[in-house]
Amino acid sequence: MLKRTLCITLHDVAPSTWPECRQLLGLIDSCGDLRVTLLVVPEYHGRTGIDRDTAFRHTIDTRLARGDEVALHGLRHRDEAAPSRSPADWFRRRILTANEGEFAALTRAEATSRIERGLELLQGLGWPVRGFVAPAWLMSAGTRSALQASGLDYATTHTALLDLRGELRIQAPCLTASPHSPWRRAASRFWLERYAMLTKSTPLVRLGLHPADAHHAGLVAQWKDLIARLGTTRDALTKSQALDRFAVRTMPK
Ligand SMILES: [Zn+2]
Repeated sequence: MLKRTLCITLHDVAPSTWPECRQLLGLIDSCGDLRVTLLVVPEYHGRTGIDRDTAFRHTIDTRLARGDEVALHGLRHRDEAAPSRSPADWFRRRILTANEGEFAALTRAEATSRIERGLELLQGLGWPVRGFVAPAWLMSAGTRSALQASGLDYATTHTALLDLRGELRIQAPCLTASPHSPWRRAASRFWLERYAMLTKSTPLVRLGLHPADAHHAGLVAQWKDLIARLGTTRDALTKSQALDRFAVRTMPK
């Protein structure tokens, strides 16, 4: 039987979000010796020059040296594709995810170009990358097709870890918070606790922290409590380590 596993993921890692990321990493580190997957956006919201930010670079180097992992989280994060054709698609892209689903509507050629550019920037800094996580987990058919040919080992959806090498799907629900209004924060705090209970016996569970979470003390306290609890009952691995552990037990996608 596989040991229960936890993947802690920090989203939207970039030089401009580093103050919040540093705070959240401090919180995670205070809960134990836990591995973290850093979802780096090389040109977050169009800001270039990640390769020239030596302080950021050295900090990520240090995290990698302690066992953390870097994954590609889009190139710019923002949805810059052509307008939606259907009202449902418009609602999903513009309202539900506030224009942050960069890969929601890209063609295969557009997705390939952005994935290749992102990988080039991260690998150019000496960071090995095995995985991709689409901003807001929104992936067009073109994006899925581009990923199959990307040479990457895994991608994730909101509910699963996808093994791109064998086209397999590993169940891995992700717990996240939505901090952008008081009612969303209240709902998030309720659902985080509820989902933690519902997924108690699920072999692989993910926690997804976002820089904006750091601005809300109640949410920070709840994350700390949850990470400390799950970190003692589960092995906290990076996504690559979880992939290697669970890829042997998979089900068709
Ligand atoms: Zn993101």
